[in-house]
Amino acid sequence: MIDNQIKDLIHNAATIGITSHIRPDGDAIGSVIALGLALEKASKKVEMVLRSGVSKTFRHLPGANLIKRSFATDCDIYIVLDCSDELRTGGVLKDRKPDIVIDHHSTNSEFGKVNLVEPEAVATCSMLAEHMPRWGLEIDEAIAAALLSGIISDSIGFRTSNTTSNSLRIAADLMDKGVDITNLYNKALISKSFESFNYWGFGLAKLQRENGLVWTTLSLEDRKNAGYMDEDDADLTNILSSIEDIDVAVLFIEQSADNVKVSWRARPGFDVAVIAKSLGGGGHPPAAGADLKGSLPEVQEKILKLTKEYLEKNENRKH
Ligand code: AMP
Ligand code: MN
Ligand code: MN
Repeated sequence: MIDNQIKDLIHNAATIGITSHIRPDGDAIGSVIALGLALEKASKKVEMVLRSGVSKTFRHLPGANLIKRSFATDCDIYIVLDCSDELRTGGVLKDRKPDIVIDHHSTNSEFGKVNLVEPEAVATCSMLAEHMPRWGLEIDEAIAAALLSGIISDSIGFRTSNTTSNSLRIAADLMDKGVDITNLYNKALISKSFESFNYWGFGLAKLQRENGLVWTTLSLEDRKNAGYMDEDDADLTNILSSIEDIDVAVLFIEQSADNVKVSWRARPGFDVAVIAKSLGGGGHPPAAGADLKGSLPEVQEKILKLTKEYLEKNENRKH
């Protein structure tokens, strides 16, 4: 049983390194904090690492201050959470193969020695909430806050199509640990800086539509003009995906002169993870991303062409 394998690996280790993906979302941050704190409680020496650090949105979580940008020592085992391939850790593991990978991406490449991958799970945090007690790890209030934040952010407030009655039951059990869901929900999804809204404004002003496809860009210039300090899209993708009567939304976020992050959102029935995976990225059928080489106009042209071709081929998936 994979739970027994993970339990043995954890309990036989004295020092444990934990990491997740670059530009971490709430699920990445929440899962690293939750597992990190639980292992510390089990008397392990833990290093929690995220290559891009913790965005302002999640710095209120107890334990967020423990996260570093690189590993300081050699750990007995390494655990990678909510991350579908080695590249996306941002190179923090150097050449080391992770001992355990825990994830819910359908595109996970199973790059660990032991891989616990549940593509139907709403979040890596919901997986941890279910599995941690089986590994002998206790969930206290701080851990519950991290897990619930991850679930709320990955399900966009229980709105994504993979939200089930079980996701809600897991969330309810976490609430029973004493966490304030209203506050966590607000911090994870609703409350945004003035700069974020300004940044959205630049993107929204360039919004385009062709049949069932909408798209826009966020350039480095937009980021600078808005005074936005993080490297992500400030969740503009979630806004694009709420436009009615569209099949797919694409957002291009310029990262440097020759690197663009692409985010796809699709309505149920379509599988944009297939497009992302074919370009070295990954994700879930309705939400996927990829990091591509090239200038913003180059990447935009190439991706729009591919996405339009995908939509033409999958016209029958519309419902
Ligand atoms: P995003 O568009 O960044 O919000 O990501 C949507 C989904 O795709 C999330 O589940 C991400 O973890 C995944 N994803 C985003 N970018 C990449 C990438 N470069 N490689 C693999 N998966 C990605
Ligand atoms: Mn994630
Ligand atoms: Mn996730």
